Amino acid sequence: MVSTSSHQTTKSKEIFTAAQKLMPGGVSSPVRAFKSVGGQPIVFESVKGAYIRDVDGNEYIDYVGTWGPAICGHAHPEVIAALHEALDKGTSFGAPCVQENILAEMVIDAVPSIEMVRFVNSGTEACMSVLRLMRAFTGRDKIIKFEGCYHGHADMFLVKAGSGVATLGLPDSPGVPKTTTNNTLTAPYNDLEAVKALFVENPDSIAGVILEPVVGNAGFIVPDAGFLEGLRELTKEYGALLMFDEVMTGFRIAYGGAQEKFGITPDLTTLGKVIGGGLPVGAYGGRADIMAMVAPAGPMYQAGTLSGNPLAMTAGIKTLELLQRPSTYEYLDKVTKSLTEGLLKVARDAGHSVSGGHISAMFGMFFTGNPVHNYEDAKKADVAKFGRFHRGMLERGVYLAPSQFEAGFTSLAHTEADIERTLAAAKEVLESL
Ligand code: PMP
Repeated sequence: MVSTSSHQTTKSKEIFTAAQKLMPGGVSSPVRAFKSVGGQPIVFESVKGAYIRDVDGNEYIDYVGTWGPAICGHAHPEVIAALHEALDKGTSFGAPCVQENILAEMVIDAVPSIEMVRFVNSGTEACMSVLRLMRAFTGRDKIIKFEGCYHGHADMFLVKAGSGVATLGLPDSPGVPKTTTNNTLTAPYNDLEAVKALFVENPDSIAGVILEPVVGNAGFIVPDAGFLEGLRELTKEYGALLMFDEVMTGFRIAYGGAQEKFGITPDLTTLGKVIGGGLPVGAYGGRADIMAMVAPAGPMYQAGTLSGNPLAMTAGIKTLELLQRPSTYEYLDKVTKSLTEGLLKVARDAGHSVSGGHISAMFGMFFTGNPVHNYEDAKKADVAKFGRFHRGMLERGVYLAPSQFEAGFTSLAHTEADIERTLAAAKEVLESL
């Protein structure tokens, strides 16, 4: 870990300054620019296990894990070895490969709702495709999403969205036609009555409800008891579909995702992040009768030049194999519990009002003393204080997600010693805020 005095970011500054002339905001994805936390974004050079190294030679304990995929630790030797072997056979086929069958079988075996699956290249693609499928299957156009949930950047989801949209405090994005979002109805997360009211108002026109079963894109927010059950019942009652966006939670909060953890089976599910093991993969899947509508089995069109790419499939297969080993999720829960409980204690001891929690390898802490049940509650957190906390941690060699409205991620590579060092840094920073 670096001490604050030795934390130099000269090269990061140079590269990031040049990047700003080349790419909007200097980045390929908005939250990376550190807009809401302030300070100098660090430019990465390499990643390994629980650590990242920047271009100035600083090392950090990483709690972002490339936004979720690195659940086995970055650059796991077995994933890298499998990729080397696959690489020798070529980078892309644009045709069927056996690796697709293997990963598809693993996903179908693991995720309760998935009887058939289609691979795509990102979570955004998975969510936009599954929405088309929900509409095709039901013959209805409207959907219900929740405030602060993020389902990628497709037009129809950029309504009261989380993640970077929340981080930057953007209004719903320009360039999205009203005619597209007229069909996107929103409700506060954990508010079953609001969902019910939308169904009562639109009894025959809602294709389905789409949600993060555990929210990570408005900070870390868990479903209240009965919320997921209630959504399952309401969707059934109104002939609508239930879609869990498990891009973040899939294979992270349990091997079978939130649906396994909470025992609620949706009709459809999207996946991403972990199933690509650090390469670009997304997927959508669900009931076989619904998936039968997808082209060429059925009439709903969706395609992809690089979809089912052998390298991406290989990284996904090896990652899931590693996760199947004994005690994986017990370990993830143990280290994440130490971290989260430790952070909350250190913060409270230093006189800060905080709330937070974890499930398996996903966690969060808000700078507000009130419990957070939805995005409105999350917005009451002290964002400026989070920014100061973030900068202090970075200077002490701990890389947290650069936004109050993002969850944190741990991995199999994080040790109790890493957690202790993180808590020691947090104590120092929190006592100085
Ligand atoms: N859904 C959820 C729940 C996500 O967290 C994300 C990305 N953070 C997406 C969809 C979009 O995935 P991608 O960035 O791979 O397009």
